[in-house]
Amino acid sequence: MKGHIIIDSGLCKECHLCIEACKKGLITPSHEFNSRGYRPVCFNQERGECTGCALCAIVCPDIAIEVYRE
Ligand code: SF4
Ligand code: SF4
Repeated sequence: MKGHIIIDSGLCKECHLCIEACKKGLITPSHEFNSRGYRPVCFNQERGECTGCALCAIVCPDIAIEVYRE
């Protein structure tokens, strides 16, 4: 199964739980700050294939990740 995610950078609080959850290593820290002073994480599809497993979205306490499956 293939998928992709969309991260709402305005909601992200930089807890990095999603980075730990994604065993594919597709989510990484960023250096840009959002309007609330956090540095929202990035989705890096080019690092591998997202399976749409939704583990990243499930662990996100701020509901900042949407998962789409093909
Ligand atoms: S849906 Fe799964 S594979 Fe895709 S970014 Fe989230 S944890 Fe990683
Ligand atoms: S789990 Fe949610 S709030 Fe935490 S870093 Fe990931 S997207 Fe941001």
